[in-house]
Amino acid sequence: MKKHNFYAGPSILSEYTIKNTAAAVENFAGTGLSLMEVSHRSREFVAVMDEARALVRELLDVPESHDVIFLGGGASLQFCMVPYNILNKKAAYLDSGTWASKAIKEAKIFGEVEVVASSKDRNYSYIPKHYTISPEAEYFHITTNNTIFGTELHHLPDVPVPLVSDMSSDIFARPVDVSRFDVIYAGAQKNLAPSGVAVVIVRRDALGRVERPIPSMLDYRIHVNSGSMYNTPPVVPVYAALQTLKWYKELGGIAVIRQKNIEKATILYDEIDRNRLFTGTAAVEDRSLMNVCFVMNEEYRTLESSFNEYASARGIVGIKGHRSVGGFRASIYNAMPKSSVETLVEAMKSFEQTV
Ligand SMILES: *Cc1c(COP(=O)(O)O)cnc(C)c1O
Repeated sequence: MKKHNFYAGPSILSEYTIKNTAAAVENFAGTGLSLMEVSHRSREFVAVMDEARALVRELLDVPESHDVIFLGGGASLQFCMVPYNILNKKAAYLDSGTWASKAIKEAKIFGEVEVVASSKDRNYSYIPKHYTISPEAEYFHITTNNTIFGTELHHLPDVPVPLVSDMSSDIFARPVDVSRFDVIYAGAQKNLAPSGVAVVIVRRDALGRVERPIPSMLDYRIHVNSGSMYNTPPVVPVYAALQTLKWYKELGGIAVIRQKNIEKATILYDEIDRNRLFTGTAAVEDRSLMNVCFVMNEEYRTLESSFNEYASARGIVGIKGHRSVGGFRASIYNAMPKSSVETLVEAMKSFEQTV
């Protein structure tokens, strides 16, 4: 039976990515060797790294002022790497979810952190909107998509300081004005590749301003200057990332992908709003196009596990909600075909008939 993969992360990858990566694990670029056993300094792998960085640049229209690097350690390492490299005295943070609060915790080690607003009061079910940023803040950290709670910033905030964003679960899902950011970072395992690597876009001018010494592996400048080859990079995830990026380009680029994402999310939210069994958990205006969170209405709550089984009998995998929200979460990243979303919607409709 075909599986419809709604896992939040690691999550669905395109067939193109999986097939090409599997082939390279067997025989990489005609070398007769596995991708896993070839020097990262080989001509063939250096070409992979260079092309992956160039494609990130092309797809997101990254300006000359910024560099693109691939780093190990996932998004969580960036929670400390960002302040280590660019927080001198004070930074502003938006507390919009679990990941944001983890970023805040790390930043506090390095300087004064002003949490300008939080949506914790209502279990992070909305994006806080009315706040002011003091001009002394060196940057304003946001999480553009809150993977766990299914909320998304649909507009970049209008603030007088550079932005820094955790885009782990919405990078490449929509066009972004990179020039407004000092740093953009994203763990790969939502919209790009298997886990083990993060893509980081950093403004060169923002670096070298802090007083503290920075250990080499945590210093963005070291990685920028070595073309992401300071140490052995995670070669298989980087190779897979390149395949996904090529696939994105073939699809027509990020603006085209965004349209498909809107279409997919609309089909699912429309059903949640129509179906008498279900309710969405995120504020309607902040609903994420990537992670769709919903629960069963109070009177049907005991049916949640039955629906889970009903769905899994139809090949639908990974829709159980995060423990901090409960219910269901359907992650519909770029690689998720519309037909899989339709399969879920059909299951919701036919389950409703049985109740
Ligand atoms: C998944 C996720 C993370 C954590 O990523 P790791 O690579 O596991 O460190 C951080 N932020 C967001 C928004 C995420 O979705």
